[in-house]
Amino acid sequence: MAKLVDRMQPDLVTQSYVIEVAKGVALTSRQFVRNLFGRKDTPTVQYPEVKTPYPARNRGRHRLMRRPDGQVRCVACMLCATACPANCITIVAAEHPDPGIEKVPTTFGIDLLKCIYCGFCEEACPCDAIRMDSGRHAIPTDTRVAQKTAIVSLLDKDGPSTAVQGGEFKADHAGGGHH
Ligand code: SF4
Ligand code: SF4
Repeated sequence: MAKLVDRMQPDLVTQSYVIEVAKGVALTSRQFVRNLFGRKDTPTVQYPEVKTPYPARNRGRHRLMRRPDGQVRCVACMLCATACPANCITIVAAEHPDPGIEKVPTTFGIDLLKCIYCGFCEEACPCDAIRMDSGRHAIPTDTRVAQKTAIVSLLDKDGPSTAVQGGEFKADHAGGGHH
């Protein structure tokens, strides 16, 4: 059942808004003066001179890991691309010269404008080949195409993986700082 609410009947003083306008001007003036002499009410951070720490759960941009011999660890199994809800991973596979390794990616790209940083790719990977622990945030760019990362820059943030196929895994040092 609908509840009827009485409509407020403002008196003349309220309708003139004089008091409310005066309150607003007083608040704005107080903050203006406080900020003029110390920025007490300004939450703005003077980036890039001052940087705020990221939350512990921040993932950061992707990086591709390497094998101990320096080769890309990815075997182009497409599990990450299949798991990706944003459909932003592009992989082109080729045969690996080593018969013990089935495939290798000749192209591995991520469109960071589409990526939602969910981490599904990292979780889907059976090889510890892709990680999102770099701590680096998305890069500002002037063009859309510059947001498409390629295998070169993904490997650039690399480190050798410490995972053993079908065996133990221990987290190693992340690839970079915050920026
Ligand atoms: S973080 Fe999520 S959206 Fe981004 S590439 Fe990985 S699976 Fe796709
Ligand atoms: S990064 Fe991992 S899940 Fe993605 S294709 Fe390479 S091996 Fe497969």
